[in-house]
Amino acid sequence: MPGQNMSGQEEMVWTNAMTEEASAEPAPPGFWRALRRGFARRCPRCGEAPAFDGYLKVRDHCDHCGEALGSYRADDAPPYFTIFLVGHIVVPLMLWVEKDWMPDLWVHVLLWIPLSLILTFLFLPRIKGAVLGAMVHLGIH
Ligand SMILES: [Zn+2]
Repeated sequence: MPGQNMSGQEEMVWTNAMTEEASAEPAPPGFWRALRRGFARRCPRCGEAPAFDGYLKVRDHCDHCGEALGSYRADDAPPYFTIFLVGHIVVPLMLWVEKDWMPDLWVHVLLWIPLSLILTFLFLPRIKGAVLGAMVHLGIH
């Protein structure tokens, strides 16, 4: 019947149009995938290219997918989450060492200041990448 053929063709045209639109603007990645890619310091959108140009400088655009990474402003969120995480690692360790061994104060200074600095420098760019991933997922520019 002519009516059935016509509706079938319209559906085909509509499907092709949706496929072309989807390939032009890829869907944002899932939340945890974007977070993982960002934590690995990769582009949260595609995961193929580095998201950073140096230690903390976010690239203007992804070299692979062209995502405008520079338009996402993480501001104070990465340092906040880094302090939160490092504090929750260092303070329990410090309390455990003090309770069990009660070392001199200089031992605490030699242990916890370097550990805090090392963990902060390790986590800060990765957490900034994860925040970038969350922002890409949520579309917060
Ligand atoms: Zn990309």
